Amino acid sequence: MYLEEMFGLNGKVAIVTGGRRGIGQVVACGLAKAGAEVVIFSRTLSPETVKMITDEGGKAYDIAVDVTDEKGVDEAVAEVMKRSGHIDVVFNNAGICIHEDTLEASIEDWRQVIDVNLTGEYIVARAVGRAMIENKIHGSIINMGSMSGTIVNIPQWQASYNASKAGVIHMTKSLAIEWAEYGIRVNSLSPGYIGTPMSADTPQELKDAWMPLIPQHRMGKPEELLPAILYLACDAAGYTTGSDVIVDGGYVSF
Ligand code: NDP
Repeated sequence: MYLEEMFGLNGKVAIVTGGRRGIGQVVACGLAKAGAEVVIFSRTLSPETVKMITDEGGKAYDIAVDVTDEKGVDEAVAEVMKRSGHIDVVFNNAGICIHEDTLEASIEDWRQVIDVNLTGEYIVARAVGRAMIENKIHGSIINMGSMSGTIVNIPQWQASYNASKAGVIHMTKSLAIEWAEYGIRVNSLSPGYIGTPMSADTPQELKDAWMPLIPQHRMGKPEELLPAILYLACDAAGYTTGSDVIVDGGYVSF
């Protein structure tokens, strides 16, 4: 009971971007289990995630929106405010990764990765931050970083991804300071290698090359990110802002 009161999200409304699959889907289900009404933002609707939540007795709905579309995001946030009345938590998770040599990469690929991972998170954080400030909501924004914002992954080259995630981590600190006076907390979560559809596309020889570099010699599961997200989301973490929480099986310490 004590833990439920401390970490529970009863009565809260949580937006999860990129909640159609992967980490976002698992976290959406976890936030709903903790008591939140969950709203999924994804380029296409996410009926599967919504059904997973409602089948378990939780509350959820989905909105089709591209996080790089400023007007679309503003409208989606306005729709959540109208339908749910408030927004308390955002898991700003939608992201993409392109592996390619910098000497061969196109500027279009660089722009696409920066646009989704960094500008998209900025657009969502800003739209939600405005709604929280206007409505005097002391909310929690959790931006999806990555250990790639701190280290350079090997042996695959992904300069655009690494730069986008380093940008997310410092954008997070900037917004945390800027919005501290409004009682809005902004933190980032930085996972190591996690088994999801995004990483399933990765060739096996690359995964084999990663294993000796991970002290736990395995990829993480999306479920293993949930405790950190619940912590950052809950009111009990009221003094935690501007932090980057790394969940990586020890990779960046190695
Ligand atoms: P997935 O590819 O499995 O899922 C990504 C999700 O983002 C999908 O639901 C996709 O939905 C959505 N998405 C992509 N582009 C957009 C867009 N422009 N607008 C709205 N939604 C979008 O990825 P993961 O679950 O693996 O990754 C989620 C996040 O975690 C990413 O930010 C990633 O960088 C980060 N991360 C992942 C790690 C890993 O090892 N997997 C490690 C560290 C960080 P749809 O296609 O319908 O839009």
